[in-house]
Amino acid sequence: MADTRILVIEDEAPIRRFLRIAVESAGFAFSEAERGRLGVEKAATEAPDLVVLDLGLPDMDGKQVISAIREWSQVPILVLSVRDAETEKIAALDAGADDYVTKPFATGELLARMRALVRNRKAPAVERSTIVIGDLSIDLASHVVRVGGSEVKLTRKEFDVLALLARHAGRLVTHRQLLASVWGPAHEEDAHYLRIAIGHIREKLGDDAGNPRFILTEPGVGYRLVD
Ligand code: CA
Repeated sequence: MADTRILVIEDEAPIRRFLRIAVESAGFAFSEAERGRLGVEKAATEAPDLVVLDLGLPDMDGKQVISAIREWSQVPILVLSVRDAETEKIAALDAGADDYVTKPFATGELLARMRALVRNRKAPAVERSTIVIGDLSIDLASHVVRVGGSEVKLTRKEFDVLALLARHAGRLVTHRQLLASVWGPAHEEDAHYLRIAIGHIREKLGDDAGNPRFILTEPGVGYRLVD
């Protein structure tokens, strides 16, 4: 995995040092930028496999960094945000970031997020027609969903929600992304559609919101299918 390069864009030196140790101990190559502009340059010249981006940078707003990178690159972007900055987090995801970790973060959680993003990049889930997660299987071509071998009947919308989460397994998908993709851009704010659909999907899959096997809730932000 040493050919997998992680670019960290973060102005705080202690956090960069911490991330270097975490990234290198996981077997990834590490590079860093302490300013947004330099980060965008390095994202272009070094072609990293993952960008870890602090939203609070002195020279550029984190969302501007995401937009600048997204003009030409689909490299996964993992955002570091401070606790309780929900609006900022959601705006970053909607600007094109793929996931976030809240500071202060646990190393295990950070590495799990990084691995999920890098793995999906190396073997895009979208190219597989059947996605299997534990005893859940989702056939994207025939729209057949099974749990423990038994077919589960989902409505078209429920299937579309589950399929979108499955294509991004392990990654966070925002309410807005789900609503826009499944119900259309005019319904981006209709969070109740999604809440109801997720409730039905969980019920049909035998998943428990309080102790989920499949669908994790990121309160106020979105949902994530376990990887
Ligand atoms: Ca900062």
